[in-house]
Amino acid sequence: MMAWSMAMRRGPMAVTAFSMATLGTRSATAARASSSRTVPLWGRRTGPSLVEKTAGVGGITSLQSTAIATELEAKLDVTHPAYEVVAKDIVTEYGAYCTLYKHKKSGAELLSVSNDDDNKVFGITFRTPPSDSTGVPHILEHSVLCGSRKYKTKDPFVQLLQGSLQTFLNAFTYPDRTCYVVASQNIKDFYNLVNVYSDAVFHPRAVSDPMVHAQEGWHLELEDKESPLTYKGVVYNEMKGVYSSPDSLLNRESQRSIFPDNTYGVDSGGDPRVIPDLSFERFADFHAKFYHPANARIYFSGDDDVYKRLELMDEYLNEFDETPESRVQSKINWQSKKYEEPINVKEPYPAGADQPETHMINVNWLLNDKPLSAYEELTLNILDHLLTGTTQSILRRR
Ligand SMILES: [Zn+2]
Repeated sequence: MMAWSMAMRRGPMAVTAFSMATLGTRSATAARASSSRTVPLWGRRTGPSLVEKTAGVGGITSLQSTAIATELEAKLDVTHPAYEVVAKDIVTEYGAYCTLYKHKKSGAELLSVSNDDDNKVFGITFRTPPSDSTGVPHILEHSVLCGSRKYKTKDPFVQLLQGSLQTFLNAFTYPDRTCYVVASQNIKDFYNLVNVYSDAVFHPRAVSDPMVHAQEGWHLELEDKESPLTYKGVVYNEMKGVYSSPDSLLNRESQRSIFPDNTYGVDSGGDPRVIPDLSFERFADFHAKFYHPANARIYFSGDDDVYKRLELMDEYLNEFDETPESRVQSKINWQSKKYEEPINVKEPYPAGADQPETHMINVNWLLNDKPLSAYEELTLNILDHLLTGTTQSILRRR
């Protein structure tokens, strides 16, 4: 779903900002546009992006290149008794040989990409649409990396960050999905990372030990007998910071106002005023409902062995049976275009008494209420770029 927005800040600073938000998953701008709502666990790491690193086989002779291509092409045909092959394709521009599998017992889909890149990548994503602003997907994202059935340490994430050869290690909560991504150039390290993350998402300590929800979500604290009880918690504190930023509030309110009837109308990150409504039971239920293989998309890319990928994931997936509910429950309905005339929404934002009086204006259009074709989406992205994409863009200059 696409919303187009223009924001103008008036006041002494005279800052002008424009943005276009795409909430689909297909567009290349989705990651950029969603980033205002992305809630990274521990911040992004620097370094070359995964896309850049998988982009080519530069610097080798054409003979070598042909040999590599033949080898990669053979990887397309790898089969495993636990999986059926759904589709195969070659993305020539990326030197990517792709096979989409479906795990027969659990219903999980696994996209296996083979390329000539020693930076091996694993990702598992669940569709996690929230129905309220308690921040349950965000709190869960933090919590699953706090120990699991096989990895009992209380902070495996921090240990991997310090002790692993990983080239990427993080997790992200979007308005409609939660992604767990790891990468490494060392094969042993890579398999270890895949194991830790897979065990974490499917068997986290957090669903049986309420202390994790209390620590990462919210709890009450008493400094001393005389002091009042106060709310504390990792996500609670993080979101208090987010909600004190006027720009962040503007983005959140504009999205809420334009998608009032579906999951984009609530805050997956968590509204500090609502976070304490989340009980441990509802937190654990959310995991049971959405962290099922049938509701997951698993991704591998790199130069590692394809059969080993399938074998490794089967160890986790074969404990689950596909339930017809898992996927249906996470389906997101389109926001219908029901507006007869422009709607005016006013929201206050926090400011200190000594700060100048400022306000911000954000103009949004709900562009579509059914899927766009690739042609339409590309056209809108070009239009967005022409109007607002650079400092020289027509609308922005005005
Ligand atoms: Zn967070």
